[in-house]
Amino acid sequence: LLRQIAFYGKGGIGKSTTSQNIAAALGEAGLKMLVVGCDPKADCTSLLTGELFQETVLEKVRSQSRNAAPNAPVEGIVHTGFADIACVESGGPEPGVGCAGRGIICAIELIERQGIIHDGLDYVFYDVLGDVVCGGFAMPIREGKAQEIYLVTSGEMMALYAANNIATGILKFASSGRARLGGVICNCRNVAGEVELVQTFAEELGTSVVGVIPRDNIVQQSELNKQTVIQYAPTSEQADAYRALAHAIEVNERFSVPTPLSRERLRELALSIAERAAGK
Ligand code: ATP
Ligand code: MG
Repeated sequence: LLRQIAFYGKGGIGKSTTSQNIAAALGEAGLKMLVVGCDPKADCTSLLTGELFQETVLEKVRSQSRNAAPNAPVEGIVHTGFADIACVESGGPEPGVGCAGRGIICAIELIERQGIIHDGLDYVFYDVLGDVVCGGFAMPIREGKAQEIYLVTSGEMMALYAANNIATGILKFASSGRARLGGVICNCRNVAGEVELVQTFAEELGTSVVGVIPRDNIVQQSELNKQTVIQYAPTSEQADAYRALAHAIEVNERFSVPTPLSRERLRELALSIAERAAGK
C-alpha cells in the first residue's frame, strides 16, 4: 500500500539531508520510492540525483507553455537517482513574481495528473520548505496528500518552537483531513540534554521519537560528493543510523493528532533539562 509522507521542520534543520538518506535506505532495500521536493531552492533531491540544479516542474511548464496546448503533458520532470528513486523538484515562481506556495500546489497537481504518483510505488516523500504551514506549503497536510508527517528537530529552542508550530498546523487540519503525526526525528546539534529534551517534547506532543541521527562530518563529506551517506559511506555508523530510522518508519503504527505545547511549557521544559544536564 502506497504511503505518502511529509517531512517538516525549521529551515536548515536537515529535512532534505535526512529525508533523502531515509529514501536511499528504503531504496537500497528494494522499495519503490518517489521524492517530491516542495522548495523553490530545488535542492531536495540533489543528493539522490547528483545534480545540484535539476530542472524543476515549474521551469519545464514555463518553457513549454508558449507552444504547447494547455494541460499538455510535461516531459522530463522525473529524474532517476540512486537505487532507482524517482525524483521531482517542484521549483518556484520566477523571482519577484507570484507565490511560491501556489507554485507548489500547481506542481503537485501536475505530477498527480501525469500519473507520476501511482499505486505501484511504496512511498512518496514530500520534503517541504522551512517551517511555514501556510498556503501551498501546507498542501500535503491540508489536502490529505500526505497521511504521515514527521517533524525534524534538534534540541535547539528555535527548532523546537518551529516543530511545535507545525504540530499546531497538523492539529488544525486533523479534523478535515487525514494527515497524522508519525513522530519526531531528532537530528542532533549536540545541545546539552538534547535527546532527553526531544523525547520529552515528543511525549508531550502525543507522539514519540522515531529516530536519533547523530551530528557527523560524514554528512558534509557525502554532500560535497553530491551523494547521500547511504551511497557515499554505506558501511559507516551514520549510514546505519539512517537505516535504523528508515526501519522505524517502515514499522511505525503510531499516528496521532498532536497536542502542541504552550510556549511557556516548551521554555520550562528546555530550561529544566538544560539545568539537569549541567548538573545543577
Ligand atoms: P531548508 O529548510 O533550507 O530546506 P533543510 O532543513 O532541508 O534546509 P538540509 O539542507 O538538509 O536542511 O541541511 C542543512 C545543512 O545541515 C546541510 O549542509 C547538511 O549537510 C547539514 N546536516 C544535516 N544533518 C546533519 C547531520 N546529522 N550531521 C551533520 N550535518 C548535517
Ligand atoms: Mg531542504
